[in-house]
Parts: sequence; structure tokens; C-alpha cells
Amino acid sequence: PLTLEEKIYDALKKYFGHSKFKSETQKTACFEIAKRNGDIYVSMPTGAGKSLCFQLPAMVHKGISIVISPLIALIYDQVEQLKGKGILAESLNSKITVKQKKKILADLNSEKPKLKLLYITPELAAQDYFRELLFSLNKKKLLNYFVVDEAHCVSQWGHDFRPQYLELGALKEKLTGVPCIALTATATPNVVSDIYKNLSLKEPVKKFKTSVFRSNLYYEILFKDFLIEDPFDNLKKFIEKSLNESSNGSDVSKNVGIIYCRTRDSCSQVAGRLITKNINAKAYHAGLKNSERDEIQSEWMEGKTKVIVATISFGMGVDKSTVRFVAHWNIPKSMAAYYQESGRAGRDGLRAYCRLYYSKEDRDLLTFLVKQELQDKKGNNKTDAMSKMTMEGFNFLINFCEEFKCRHAGISKYFDDDSVPKCNQSCDVCKVPNETKKMIDQYKKGIST
Ligand code: ADP
Ligand code: MG
Ligand code: ZN
Repeated sequence: PLTLEEKIYDALKKYFGHSKFKSETQKTACFEIAKRNGDIYVSMPTGAGKSLCFQLPAMVHKGISIVISPLIALIYDQVEQLKGKGILAESLNSKITVKQKKKILADLNSEKPKLKLLYITPELAAQDYFRELLFSLNKKKLLNYFVVDEAHCVSQWGHDFRPQYLELGALKEKLTGVPCIALTATATPNVVSDIYKNLSLKEPVKKFKTSVFRSNLYYEILFKDFLIEDPFDNLKKFIEKSLNESSNGSDVSKNVGIIYCRTRDSCSQVAGRLITKNINAKAYHAGLKNSERDEIQSEWMEGKTKVIVATISFGMGVDKSTVRFVAHWNIPKSMAAYYQESGRAGRDGLRAYCRLYYSKEDRDLLTFLVKQELQDKKGNNKTDAMSKMTMEGFNFLINFCEEFKCRHAGISKYFDDDSVPKCNQSCDVCKVPNETKKMIDQYKKGIST
């Protein structure tokens, strides 16, 4: 018979079409998870291939794996991809038909379920009938893994807190002997400790963590007030240059980009200005009808619309690998948010550009908004502690922008990486230090007078 190692390599080729692992960490995580021996925590940046770390081990054991994911859109995406590979994967959620649901449940209740991966939202995991089903699968020794993807959603310190994630810990405790696999791209030390605690991970937890450093992303901060030209012209040039970027002979026609703005109005305004400058852009925000938003998103996914000008309501769960730039026309609200949003660029591993347009006016407005938001919540200790974190995440970002220090180093410091990233001229401070220093000095002079 094949050894576990041979089975893993066979499945990697057979189901996923890869002959090797993407990284040493991905490999060691896969091997350790495949042993089904205890709980595991995996932290790797977006695009590093976290899904494979549980999908591959799921294929080498008999039985089924449950995957919790926060959004139906994310779930559909993954299930479709798996089905495309010939893997028996399904999802149970509020949007499937009664007939589909019956079919899935019948399989799960059968003596030999055929499904290998079942994706669900945390809401379903809280339902009694579903919990009973999991207990019965476990009793029959057919439950392989309890996977919690986007595990930072379990933490209130995180930027995408989902209260329903909190219930997962109690469920996990009842699934005796089933390894829990928690995965995330963005976790500060506070968030990590919440993941351990709230998911009831059992020590010794094996931890696989790679640096948050994304060497293909070029980071730069531009001070709007000190641009020699009109900021919209500057943005236009940035867009054109990024969309024309080709490395390793990549197809430029697939390149697209995202511009984030704080308000609906500014989305429309920026999109409007870009259109007059012959940029193929569209605004996307919560003020549009669902059908309009879906259409804009699909056009962008297909590359018919090159630039989407959006509020932060756009992006989570959007899996597009050829995003060549992410521009922030306004300052985001925390360092974690900035890392997450800008990190949607360059998932294919090729050169991509992240530019943040900074101004004193915007900084002061955002400071006011953040303080106001915290004021509204003042009262109990829990929220006061959270407010302190919000303020810290915000101040860190402000400092990150205003400081003359490698941007990648700033990001790694925030996420408490062990190593200092080798930026290799992939940020403004390292690539054009004189210009960058001049702009920061000019800005600092401006705010002190
Ligand atoms: P993450 O969840 O860490 O953001 P994904 O799991 O979505 O990343 O994977 C990102 C991309 O990397 C996907 O397109 C996936 O097919 C690809 N990928 C994962 N593992 C490998 C591998 N061993 N070899 C080649 N490509 C891989
Ligand atoms: Mg993922
Ligand atoms: Zn640098």
C-alpha cells in the first residue's frame, strides 16, 4: 500500500494538477494536517494557497471534511473550483433549493457518504439538526476535519468580526478527536490569541506561519497636497502604467484595478473624473441596486470594465488574480484594513502596485470620524478595550504613512513577523528615497505651522 506521503503527492497531481507545493510551509502544513493528529493553526498571506492545506489532506482520508467560511460568495467560488477538478464538494446554505438540500443530507446520513468537502456558513453550524448530523458522522468515524477558514472573523480585534463565529468553539469541543484547522491571512498577536481561545484549539497546537511580506507588491504613499500636478491626472497616469504592466509575458488585456474611496459620493465623483479622462471606470457602492452591483462586478471580473471605483463593500470574497493595482483615494481606517484591501492586488504573484493618496485634510476628517464612532460606543469595558485597539490600528496606519521607513517593514512590524522583509526596492522609501523624504518633510512642515 502507498505511504501517506505517496498518497499526498498522488492526490496533489491527480486532483489539483500540481506537481509540487507552492512553498515549504504549504508542504509541511499539508503533511502535518494529513496526520490528523491535533489542532492546527495556519497563517499565510492571501494568495499563498491556504485552501490546499486542508483540501489536499481531505482527499487522502475516507470520510468528509466540514469547512466554515464567512460568505456565501466565497463558498460558491471554492465549491465551483473543486467541482471543476472533479472533487465531490457541496455547500449547505440558505440559498440552495430544497431538492439540493435533501440530496446533500441524504448523502451525509448514508452509511458511506460520497461527499469529501462540505462548505457551510457559521449560521448553519449553530443549528441543532446540523450539529446532530456532525455528531453522528463523528460517531461513525467519518468526520475528517473541522476547518475554520478566515479564522480572524472569530476575533473582535479583527477587522471582519462575525458574532456567529463565536459559537464555533463550543461545537468544536463536542467534536472529540476531530482536528480543527484554523486558517487566516491577517492576524496580529491579539487576534491569534482570540482564535486559539474562541475556537477552543487544544494545546499543543501546531502553528504554521509565514511572513505577511508580499514581495511582488509595490507600496507607495503620495501626499495629495504636494503633487505638482492635478491629483486626478496623477491617478490616471498611475492607472495607465499599472494596466500596461506585463511581467513574464503576462497578458496585459487581463489587467484590472480597484480604487477605494470612503463615500459613495466620492466613488461617483472619482469614476466620473476618470471617465472624462478616457479611463474605463465604474463606480460601485451600497447605494446601487443589487442587480446593478452584480453587473458591474461581473463586467470587472471579465475585464470589460477595467477599473472599479468602490467603497470597502467591494472586495471580500472577490477572487481575481490579475488585479494590477489597488489605489486608496482616501485613507483606510486601520493598518489591518489597509493590508487586506491593498493585498487584493497581485494574487497571481506578478508585479502589482498599491498606492495610497494621503492628505492632512483627509487624516483630520478620519480622526474625527474614528473618535466619533468610539464615542458612540463608550460605556462597557469590552467596547472600551476595543476602542483602544481601533485607535491603535488607526494610529499605526497614520504613522506608517507619515514615517520615512520601508513600507514592507512597517507592515511586517504591525503583524509581528519574525523576519525583516527584503523589500528590494518594492516601496517608495527604498526605491525613490530622496523624493519620498522630500514629500514627507514638506508635509510635516505643513502640519507644524
Ligand atoms: P489563500 O486562501 O491563501 O488566499 P488560495 O488557496 O485561494 O490562497 O490559493 C491561491 C492560488 O494558488 C490559487 O489559484 C491556487 O490554485 C494556487 N495554488 C495553491 N497551491 C498551489 C500549488 N501547490 N501549486 C500551484 N498553485 C497553487
Ligand atoms: Mg483563502
Ligand atoms: Zn521598502
